[in-house]
Amino acid sequence: MNIDGRTRLIGLLGDPVEHTMSPMIHNTLSELLGINDVYVPFHTRKQGLEQAVKGAYELNILGLNATVPHKNHVIKYLCGLDDGSRAIGAVNTLVRTSEGYKGYNTDMLGLMREVKSYGIALSGQDVIILGAGGAAKAVAYMCMSEKAAHVYIFNRTKSKAEEIAKHMNEHFGNDIMIAGALSDYKKLKQKKYIVFQSTSIGLHPNDDEAVITDEDFYKLVDTGVDLVYNPFETGFMKRCRAEGAKAYNGLKMLLYQGIIAYELWNHISVDEKTADIVYQRLLKATRNNIVLTGFMGCGKSTVGLAISEKYGYKLVDTDSVIEEKAGMPISKIFQTKGEAYFRSLETKVLMELNETLSNTVISTGGGLPLREENQKLLTSLGNVVYLNVEAEEVLCRLAGDTTRPLLQGKNPRERITELMDYRKPIYEQGADVTISVTGKSVADIVEEVMNGYSKT
Ligand code: NAP
Repeated sequence: MNIDGRTRLIGLLGDPVEHTMSPMIHNTLSELLGINDVYVPFHTRKQGLEQAVKGAYELNILGLNATVPHKNHVIKYLCGLDDGSRAIGAVNTLVRTSEGYKGYNTDMLGLMREVKSYGIALSGQDVIILGAGGAAKAVAYMCMSEKAAHVYIFNRTKSKAEEIAKHMNEHFGNDIMIAGALSDYKKLKQKKYIVFQSTSIGLHPNDDEAVITDEDFYKLVDTGVDLVYNPFETGFMKRCRAEGAKAYNGLKMLLYQGIIAYELWNHISVDEKTADIVYQRLLKATRNNIVLTGFMGCGKSTVGLAISEKYGYKLVDTDSVIEEKAGMPISKIFQTKGEAYFRSLETKVLMELNETLSNTVISTGGGLPLREENQKLLTSLGNVVYLNVEAEEVLCRLAGDTTRPLLQGKNPRERITELMDYRKPIYEQGADVTISVTGKSVADIVEEVMNGYSKT
């Protein structure tokens, strides 16, 4: 980042702001597109909001985001609103004009772009919205403006759902939005619906919770979109998928709300290739997975277990998943079906894990990163930590181990050295962090992994 006399500042007004992903999204966009903007968070208290907006304008700040608790209050300090933010009553993006800042709600526009990216058309469809908080208003506006046939909004506090339905029906001049309590899905026609989950139920660490747990509800779902994105596969999404429905999380909404704000500030259009690079970084940051790679005997399983026990991560071992799927040990898969078959199973398992895992430490089979497509899958799965071990240490650790198919030849030392020479550069190239493990205790390696990982 090269700050000079032409650099433009963009910022976030919020309280708190420490956990925001926005600087990462916007500064990555500036870096990729070569635009001379810098994005910073501004911790702004409620009582200072007016001065903050006026001061930002005077300081020639290009644009701002507003987050909790300012999305509603900021409206009175703006020179105008677009239709969406006016109807929703919340602004998350302030765009500089000659008269002051104009407000937009790119949460809603971001969700719309996410939905369209999956090929979902809301026009003429029957939709269910779960929840009636701030986010649900944006979903409601989107469904109405996209001309859904009926929009059912169900909430624990029914009166809040009724308020949104009344307001949206008035705004759009129709009566297609119908409010109810959460259990009112039981009164719906037995057909398929597009469902938006916009309550805060199911946020990590309550990964398996869902606002409705009755299986019968999920039989009504054609496509479920959860606005929550941590965990990566929410309890709501699992239940949708268990009933054969398609299910998505809200990470792309987060991505696109940022991209659309950036487009408004800079009067540009961000291409999908650039959007995808930002998405990959968001994936790494929000999934919170640690992927351990390295040669057989480097300690991936032991270190993975120790991280899981000490830091509360879930634990997955790709070899165990494969054995379970195949119904036989890996040595038998090699014997009966050959190495190529085993490698294709590895790729398949990795693709499946990529759809679901978050907050997990994943120990991988030694040969897994060798396939180029697997390396890409590992990169989007999490932060890849290569445990680098010396050949002599592997020989000591694996002496007498007859379960390793690649070491069942005459001269294991030669075989290990030969395999290592070939694999080392591949492990290194695919890793975010490399840690040398020879001669170190498991506890020390665990701390190094956690320290190195937090810096990636
Ligand atoms: P909010 O205004 O606080 O609303 C929370 C909603 O959850 C309300 O409908 C509330 O029902 C419901 N709820 C809370 N606890 C409940 C419980 N125990 N049982 C049943 N319902 C319960 O929050 P929000 O701003 O709308 O955000 C909602 C979710 O959307 C959050 O998880 C947020 O992370 C997510 N979100 C994601 C994005 C994105 O970019 N992906 C953007 C915005 C929001 P009551 O009205 O009865 O209290």
